[in-house]
Amino acid sequence: MRKLSPETIAVRTGIDTDTQYGAVVPPIYLSSNYTFKGFNQPREYDYARRGNPNRSQLAQTLAELEGGTYGVMTSTGLAAITTVIQLLSPQDTLVIPHDCYGGSYRMFDHLARRGLFKLVVVDQNDQGALNKAIALKPKMVWLETPSNPLLRLVDIESISVLAKSVNALVVVDNTFLSPILQQPISLGADIVIHSCTKYINGHSDVVAGAIITKDQQLGIDLDWWANCLGLTGGAFDSYLTMRGLRTLSVRMKQHQESAAKIAEFLNQHPAIAHVYYPGLESHPQYQLAKKQQLGSGAMLSFELAGTVEQVEILLDEIALFCLAESLGGVESLIAHPATMTHAGMEESARKEAGIGDNLIRLSVGLESVDDLIADLSDSLDSVLASI
Ligand code: PLP
Repeated sequence: MRKLSPETIAVRTGIDTDTQYGAVVPPIYLSSNYTFKGFNQPREYDYARRGNPNRSQLAQTLAELEGGTYGVMTSTGLAAITTVIQLLSPQDTLVIPHDCYGGSYRMFDHLARRGLFKLVVVDQNDQGALNKAIALKPKMVWLETPSNPLLRLVDIESISVLAKSVNALVVVDNTFLSPILQQPISLGADIVIHSCTKYINGHSDVVAGAIITKDQQLGIDLDWWANCLGLTGGAFDSYLTMRGLRTLSVRMKQHQESAAKIAEFLNQHPAIAHVYYPGLESHPQYQLAKKQQLGSGAMLSFELAGTVEQVEILLDEIALFCLAESLGGVESLIAHPATMTHAGMEESARKEAGIGDNLIRLSVGLESVDDLIADLSDSLDSVLASI
């Protein structure tokens, strides 16, 4: 059969696979356990922590979309990260970016303090600092591109080449773009992780994670760890995530079309000091975005001119963007990273990463972009009036 495009793979996942009743959409298997055929004759599934048909189907489809060979579904994005770092021992070094998601940073930092591995935090765009980190012969190099919340990009291909020179595993957190807009394995990564809570499910009603590996045995090993630690995801979450996945491609197209218009609008607004969006020519890695991404995505952040008082006015005035954590849902969200998503980072680490108190992050949803811009415009007028 001809190779299918991602849109088709996502829409068709599990469709028309029910052999019992011919259900078009696959049934949900909520059973916690499965009978043995007889003495010492287990079936494909025995216990739902270890395996479940809905989870397997979703994991396989995500692996296909990412261009990997094996997928593991986990209960959260952080559970996916917890599973992957089981590959590290106390003598191993993990290199992470200085501006990754605050929850990931908090986990790496606290586990390293307990001696589970050695942690090196670097600005991965500072070639000198990166070379020094690689010279330590890390076991694993962690990338998050675009980064949360500053939308900084790193070159997956060139960092992978560097990491391979010391046999380090390259892991990419691909949550911000989804496999529709970036496929890190094709650029040299060994492992991709996702918070499926975000775009992959896309409807803000599931918390879930996924790991996709290039190498099948590595995937089997991580699957073993996810079961061993009890980090695997539930059947209903997989079912809902699969339902969301079917529309991922059309959602991403609309999300990013609106985000690009909003970025342009904010970029010329007098109440805004700076906009961070890889689709703007002013973004320092605009060319890299063109090279390694299939689009600019729908996350953006900006520095508001003025003080934290102005931030509060904007957050009070805005109506169509919910003040909430998370991202990637059909509804638009606004967040203040310093007190919300990145509050788990110490102030010094936040400052080091460039996450200031005037930084605001938007997750652009699927409402009419004209309504969203009008809402931003009205709220920013109130900000201007207060300066
Ligand atoms: N990675 C990124 C980039 C995130 O933004 C998040 C959550 O915000 C996570 C990982 C963690 O995922 P979860 O909240 O599903 O555990």
